[in-house]
Amino acid sequence: MLRDEDRIFKNLYNDLGADLNSSKKRGDWTNTKDLCEKGRDWIIDEIKKSELRGRGGAGFPTGLKWSFAPKEVGSRPHYLVINADESEPGTCKDRDILRFEPHKLLEGCLIAAYAVNSHKCYIYLRGEYYNEGVELQKAIDEAYKDNLIGKNASGTGWDLDIYIHYGAGAYICGEETALLESIEGNKGQPRLKPPFPALVGLYGCPTIVNNVETVSVVPTILRKGSKWFASLGKPKNTGTKIFCISGNVNKPCNVEEEMGVPLKDLIETHAGGVVGGWENLQAVIPGGSSMPLLNKEISEKITMDFDSLVENKSGLGTAGIVVINKDQDIIKCFARIARFYKHESCGQCTPCREGSGWMWRILERMAKGEASREEVEMLFDVTKQIEGHTICAFGEGSAWPVQGLLRNFKKEIIKRNNFDPLIKSNKDIPYLVDQHLLEKDNAQNKS
Ligand code: SF4
Repeated sequence: MLRDEDRIFKNLYNDLGADLNSSKKRGDWTNTKDLCEKGRDWIIDEIKKSELRGRGGAGFPTGLKWSFAPKEVGSRPHYLVINADESEPGTCKDRDILRFEPHKLLEGCLIAAYAVNSHKCYIYLRGEYYNEGVELQKAIDEAYKDNLIGKNASGTGWDLDIYIHYGAGAYICGEETALLESIEGNKGQPRLKPPFPALVGLYGCPTIVNNVETVSVVPTILRKGSKWFASLGKPKNTGTKIFCISGNVNKPCNVEEEMGVPLKDLIETHAGGVVGGWENLQAVIPGGSSMPLLNKEISEKITMDFDSLVENKSGLGTAGIVVINKDQDIIKCFARIARFYKHESCGQCTPCREGSGWMWRILERMAKGEASREEVEMLFDVTKQIEGHTICAFGEGSAWPVQGLLRNFKKEIIKRNNFDPLIKSNKDIPYLVDQHLLEKDNAQNKS
């Protein structure tokens, strides 16, 4: 269990107030000037030593990312962009930072902007977070009024302006380059990389894009020291993390815990346990809907950190934990997730655009018990045709949940669809099955 003195987000449940005075009482903005006076190299070095990894899903080392920004400002200005698009199903941690701990984020913005030589910071907020945007704007106004940001921000000699930019509800705008396109006023479609945003980002200028939680923990790391942060969690998986626990649990919640906390502890201790008891657990999605599910056996013993989850063929992602108990139709759940990804594909890459629709339609058939035997392998094949063949990681995000389902619940799919065990492949009855698939697909497409 995380000790109270190691907790970074002390107002996660808004017991203490989100305004500037209350935030200052909790330690925000206390010695920002002193921290900046230690210099850019010191800041980046401390963040590197803390082993902080991005909290938005990819887990890229933050200090390393900052070090990619050019050391000197050339003819193009530098930008800092905060990704507050938080659209991953099962994830709502940034939302609570935005509305209950906005000054942690703003102070982090100043330090990060100073470290990467940026005078402008854009916070890209998902359109649905209107109320959170209102709270955040209040905090920005307070910070300007108190000279914490703006000209000579916090007495550092550094000028920083912070703007909120609202998105319009597309999931893909959470992908950093689609997000930049969206700020520029274009359609939110990911760019081909390289070049990476650190060199060619917003308006073609060097840009560092960081998640809300990542930037919000920076001031505390610098105040308490990289050693303190690195002492929490596990090597290369350090610090604390906000976990979002939802689904079939008795008390859905957001909770800050140490990295590497056992998944079972999070569910049983913080979220009041699985509805119907632990024995009623069917599966857990550990990192938002784009991460492969974990079966009950793995959920029993796994710890929540980047490396343990990768070892178990899943990922920490956004740490949006969705608990699925045995009352749920697991195939139907994943057909629904597939429908979401089909809807959200930006359509640039054929494997993603077409494959996400294929996966959805096949899973719908499977959920209704109308699939053919051959479609089980075909579905896996479709996921493999998408994975690694697209411009952005959305392709993997749509394919991995389906792979997880097939890995763990193939027997259920076979049972539901009542395949004739003697027919190993539809190649045994090619004409009939192909015709069947064609008709179903056509009907689905028309509807
Ligand atoms: Fe768009 Fe999908 Fe390609 Fe990403 S993978 S660029 S979402 S079509």
